Amino acid sequence: MLRRFFSYYRPYKGLFILDFSCAILAALLELAFPVALNRVVDDLLPSGNWEWILVACLSLLGVYIVSAGLHYVVTYWGHKLGISIESDMRKALFDRVQKLSFRFFDNNKTGHLVSRMTNDLMDIGEIAHHGPEDLFIALMTLAGAFGIMLSINWELAVLTFIIVPLMIYLSLFFGRKMSAAFDRMFADIADYNARVENNVSGIRVVQAFANEKYEMERFAENNDRFRSAKLIAYRIMAWNSSISFILMRSISLFVLVCGTWFVIQDRMTYGQFIAFIMLSNVFLGPIKQINSVIETYPKGIAGFKRFLELLETEPDVADAPNAQAVGHLRGDIAFRGVTFGYENKEKVLHHVDLNVRAGETVALVGPSGAGKTTLCSLLPRFYDVDDGAISIDGIDIREMTLESLRSNIGIVQQDVFLFDGTFRENIAYGKLGASEQDIWDAAKRAQLEELIHSQPAGLDTLIGERGVKLSGGQKQRLSIARMILKNPPILILDEATSALDTETEAAIQLALTELSQGRTTLVIAHRLATIRNADRILVVADQGIAEQGRHDELVTKGGAYSRLHRAQVGS
Ligand code: ADP
Ligand code: MG
Repeated sequence: MLRRFFSYYRPYKGLFILDFSCAILAALLELAFPVALNRVVDDLLPSGNWEWILVACLSLLGVYIVSAGLHYVVTYWGHKLGISIESDMRKALFDRVQKLSFRFFDNNKTGHLVSRMTNDLMDIGEIAHHGPEDLFIALMTLAGAFGIMLSINWELAVLTFIIVPLMIYLSLFFGRKMSAAFDRMFADIADYNARVENNVSGIRVVQAFANEKYEMERFAENNDRFRSAKLIAYRIMAWNSSISFILMRSISLFVLVCGTWFVIQDRMTYGQFIAFIMLSNVFLGPIKQINSVIETYPKGIAGFKRFLELLETEPDVADAPNAQAVGHLRGDIAFRGVTFGYENKEKVLHHVDLNVRAGETVALVGPSGAGKTTLCSLLPRFYDVDDGAISIDGIDIREMTLESLRSNIGIVQQDVFLFDGTFRENIAYGKLGASEQDIWDAAKRAQLEELIHSQPAGLDTLIGERGVKLSGGQKQRLSIARMILKNPPILILDEATSALDTETEAAIQLALTELSQGRTTLVIAHRLATIRNADRILVVADQGIAEQGRHDELVTKGGAYSRLHRAQVGS
C-alpha cells in the first residue's frame, strides 16, 4: 500500500526534492544555533570582546532570515505538493466512479460515495506533504542533536536519551488504537452523509407524509454514532498527548537538574550547559513531530485504504480488450438465447430470442415487473447477459466499445433525470457543443419552443435541481429534445408517456412519433392505445416473450394480449 501511496509523488519529483531539501536545511540550521551559542558563551564572553559578540549576533540574524525563507518554501511549496497529490487522487477516483456499472450503483449508497470523494481524502494531502518529510527530518534532527550532545557530555546525553525508546513505544501503541478508531469514524461519517443525502433528496416526500419527527430521530441516531466515534478517537488522542507532555517536561527537568550538578562539579561549562538545555528542547520538537505524524498517519491511511478500495473496484461492464468503435449503426437487433437475472435470485429473462429489423417499431407490453425495462437495459449493456448474446447489425455488442455502442442508442424514460442548470445545458446534453440553431430546432420539434419563449431568460432559464421547476410533461419534452439532438439510430421509449395527462400526451406523442421516424424503436407502454400502430407487439411475461404479432392478430388470438386489451377498454 505504501508503494501505491508513493507512486502519487512521481509527477512532483522536483517539488518534492525542493521541499525536502529546504526542510533538511532548516533542521540543520536549528541544530547549528545551540552550537553557536555554546561558542559565544564559552569563548567570546570571557574575552569581553563586545564587537565579536555583535558580529556573532548579526550572523545569527542572517541565519534566521535564511531560515525564515526556508520555512516559507516548506509551508507553501510543501503544501502545494500535498494539495496536488490530493487533487490527483480525487480526480482518479472521480474518473473511476464515472466508469462503474449500474450494478455497482444499485448496491452502493450515493452518500457513501460522496463521502469517499470528499472526507476520506481530506487528510491525505496533509499526510502526503508532512508524513515522509516530518518523519525523516525528525529522525535526522534527533540523531543530530544526540550526536552533538554526545560530543558535549556523553554521560548526560545517554541518560537523557533513555527516554526516547519509551516515547516511541508509547506513540506506536497509541497509533494502533487510533487507527482502529479512525476506521470506525470514517464508516460513521459515510453513514451520516448517506442519511443526509437521502433525506434532503427526499425531503418533499418526508414533508408530504409529515414524517419529519421520524426523520429527526433517525438522523439523531446516526449523528450520535458519529459523535461517539469521534469522541473515542479524541480520548485516545488526549491520553497520548497527556502522557507525552509529562514525559517531555520530565526530560527538560531532568536535564536541568543533572546539568546543574555537572556544572557545579566542574564537569561542564556554562556554555555547554546552555547548549545542552537548548538541544534537549530541539530534540523535543522531533519527538513531538513523530508523535503528530503517528497521530495523523492512521487517519490518512484509513482514508487512503478506503480510497484504494473504490479506485480498485473493477466495473463489471467494461470494454473488451479488442473492442471496436463502431460508427453509425443501422439498427438490426438480435437477441439469441438471452438469459439474465440481477442477483443470484431467479432469472428475469430466460432464453429470449428476438429479432428487430432496422427501422421497425416494436412495442413491449406485459404485467409490471415482467422484465420489459430489464430487456431494454441489456441493449446498451447497462448489464451484461448471463448467457446468450445480443448483436446489432450482426456484431456482438460486447465487441463494440461502450461509448460507440451507447452513442447509437437513446432512451427516454418515465422518470426523467435532468441536471441542475439551464434549458440550454440540459438540451445540449444530447450533443455536447451543439449550436444555438440545433438547440432551437430540437426544442421546436419537442414542442418546447413556446414554453422557452415564455421564460424570462429564454434558453438560459434555470430549471432547478432535477428540473423541479418544471411539470412532468415539460420535463418529458425536455428529455425528448435532448434525444432529438443526440439523433441515435436506435430508440427505447420506456413508458415515456405514462406520467402525463391525455392532453399533454397528445403533444408528446406527436414529438415522439417525430422522434421515432426512421429509427429502430422499442416502445414499452402501459396503455395499449398508444402502441396500436406498432409494427409488432411483444407480450413479455414468464421470463420471456409469451406472444407476438400485430394488434388485430393478437386481439383475435384470444391470449394474454387480448385479456390485457379487454381489461383496458373495459369490454
Ligand atoms: P418491468 O419493466 O416489466 O415492469 P423490470 O424489468 O423493471 O420490469 O423488472 C423485472 C424484475 O427485476 C422485477 O422483479 C424487479 O424487481 C427486478 N429488478 C429490476 N431492477 C432491478 C435491479 N436494479 N436490481 C435487482 N432487481 C431488479
Ligand atoms: Mg419498467
